[in-house]
Parts: sequence; structure tokens; C-alpha cells
Amino acid sequence: MSSRRSLATELAAAAAAYQTADVIPHCTQCAKPCCKLDALVLEMEWKQIKTLWKISDSRAVFDKRLAAGEGPQEIRESEGLYFVHSKPCPAYDQAGGSCQIYGQALKPVGCSDFPVYEDRGSIMADLRCEAVDLKALTARLARTLGPDVRIVQSADREFPFLVTLSVRSSGSKRK
Ligand code: SF4
Ligand code: SF4
Repeated sequence: MSSRRSLATELAAAAAAYQTADVIPHCTQCAKPCCKLDALVLEMEWKQIKTLWKISDSRAVFDKRLAAGEGPQEIRESEGLYFVHSKPCPAYDQAGGSCQIYGQALKPVGCSDFPVYEDRGSIMADLRCEAVDLKALTARLARTLGPDVRIVQSADREFPFLVTLSVRSSGSKRK
């Protein structure tokens, strides 16, 4: 395994561990649940749309209805994918504040990635999630990766709520 791949694997594991320990326990008390999709746009595949919205039409018929403005207003189609925004996800249990397809293959990848995930050897953190604490996340990464690296923080210019935590050498080689 190359060192680049190894770092990506380590970061992905650290992101998952952070979500398990610090994010998911907060979800049931969250003031602005991401699953309401009022701030976020969720990308879905046809199978997910068909199942969650209980669509009996064929995909071609559904797409035609969407294009004519007769489909669910919260769904937009683009290049074979569907983007959902402005209404709670049908899998969201609003009373319990939980996902009803948690742990199932049907759950969109974007849901599992949000709000902290590995991307091309860095960690992305989305501050639209109120449970994300950059200081705690950075400290966790520093503990995981050891003293030979340092974590450098930068915000996206266009979307400042998206923060990249990059790994840089602190000068000495890792053992
Ligand atoms: S925004 Fe964060 S804390 Fe709130 S429901 Fe989503 S993942 Fe959980
Ligand atoms: S699939 Fe689950 S985690 Fe994803 S938006 Fe819907 S309720 Fe939330």
C-alpha cells in the first residue's frame, strides 16, 4: 500500500471515528437537522428516489413528469442523478430525529460522509453541522497521526463553511 493510500485510509478511519464519537450522539438533539434538507442538497440515485418516494412509475415517466414540473417539487434531475432540497428526506423520522434507513445500502453515500470525511488525502469538515468542533477534530487527527505531522486548516473561498484539514510534515520523518 502506498503511503498516500495509507494516509487516506488512516484519515477515513479517523473521520468515521469522530462521527461516531462526537457527531452522531448529537443528532437527536440537533437544532438544525441536516436531514430536513433546508440547508443541504442531497444527491440520490434513481433506486433511492424510487424507493423513498414510493414511485410506481417507470423512470422515464417519472423524469418526464419532473421535467414538466409535475414531480415532487423538492427533486431536481441532472445528468442521471437526482438532487433533493427544501423538504425533509422521506427517510427522516422527525419525531425521533433519526434516519430510518441507517446502516442500509439504500442510505446515500453523502449522508454517511456528512459532516466529516476524507477527500484526496485531506479531511473535509462541514460547519453547517452544529456538532462539528474543529478544535476537537484537529486534536483527534493530531493524536491519530502522531507528532511528525501538523494539521493545517483552510476554508473554501466560495463556501466558507467547508473547511479542509490538510496534513503536512512537521519536519521529521514518520516512523
Ligand atoms: S447537522 Fe450534524 S448533528 Fe445535526 S442531524 Fe445532521 S449530522 Fe447530526
Ligand atoms: S437518508 Fe437518512 S441520513 Fe440521509 S437525509 Fe435521509 S434521513 Fe437523513
